[in-house]
Amino acid sequence: MKYELSSYKRIVVKIGSSLLVDQRDGLKTAWFESLSQDLANLATRGAEILVVSSGAIALGRKILNLQQGQLKLEESQAAAAIGQIALGRAWSDYLGRHEIKVGQILLTLEDTENRRRYLNARNTISTIIKWNTIPIINENDTVATSEIRYGDNDRLAARVATMMSADLLVLLSDIDGLYSAPPKDNPDAKFIHKVDAITPEIEAMAGSAGSELSRGGMVTKIEAGKIATNAGTAMVIASGMQAHPLATLNKTAHGTWFKPGTNVTTARKKWIAGQHEVCGAVIVDAGAISALARGKSLLPAGVTHIEGKFQRGDMVAIINGEQKVLGRGLITFDADDAIKLLGQHSSKIASILGFERKPEIIHRDDMVLEIAENNQG
Ligand code: GLU
Repeated sequence: MKYELSSYKRIVVKIGSSLLVDQRDGLKTAWFESLSQDLANLATRGAEILVVSSGAIALGRKILNLQQGQLKLEESQAAAAIGQIALGRAWSDYLGRHEIKVGQILLTLEDTENRRRYLNARNTISTIIKWNTIPIINENDTVATSEIRYGDNDRLAARVATMMSADLLVLLSDIDGLYSAPPKDNPDAKFIHKVDAITPEIEAMAGSAGSELSRGGMVTKIEAGKIATNAGTAMVIASGMQAHPLATLNKTAHGTWFKPGTNVTTARKKWIAGQHEVCGAVIVDAGAISALARGKSLLPAGVTHIEGKFQRGDMVAIINGEQKVLGRGLITFDADDAIKLLGQHSSKIASILGFERKPEIIHRDDMVLEIAENNQG
């Protein structure tokens, strides 16, 4: 594992509310400026950045002059509505000074857990990145009620990181990393610089939720670590308490670094292999079978028939003309569109469907094969 930010290509940076917003003075403008400078530097060096920004509720409270103390759920949601618009604008202003454009994405739990919505969110975020624009992501607090919400942006950021196959997740926090015990009550607690695997022992070090100021505390950060590392994304918890937090992290590497477990493709493939429901099938020709065996994606040109009424993002079987199952994968098109594309060259997709789509009917990362791959492609 590398300990410099500059070695990572796609990076999700999560920023906690207390770093961005001061309850008395509102947005911490000087800090925000230094962070924006850091993000701009990383982007200039070719990194693809995604920001998960908390702070909507805190900023909304400040704008409304709401007293300290617990807000009712509907009050937090309303405060988020007011705060999010200001937060989005601040991001657009601050990064705009570095000629960086931003796009706002508000997600709910279902957008990352329901496969079809997941696929949609992933495509939208990919497009934003392709346009050299930084997605600014938060939970859609205004509609997310208790049963269907993350509630903390640590886990949301981890899901975003895995959804987008990020290389690194940075959790900027009001603490510099994990200690062998919550440091507030344990002066002898030792700083943990590196976590190879999240064992029960590591989990015990996090203490109980709320042992730290921020909403999630260390517990949700460790949970985020599990989500990220299981899917092949490295993670670091680092302090955002000083100016230029990312430049500092890049220079000092001071933080708790979590080693990624497997690679992303393997993790996604495991997920696909473990799914039971198959909603239809694509029947492929000999040319497609040999392309699949070389590790290529499945293109519409190699599909001769389809079966079933599947939707975009559904699991379908890949079968040959003799009904032998070759594998399975997540399909890019719904059945109505797939029918129109049978045997067609991918360059015709836009003219046939009337909109641009990816050229693959099933991307290689979204499929598992039962036939042997000889990995030449
Ligand atoms: N989504 C919340 C907000 O923007 C923050 C959740 C968290 O603190 O992790 O206010």
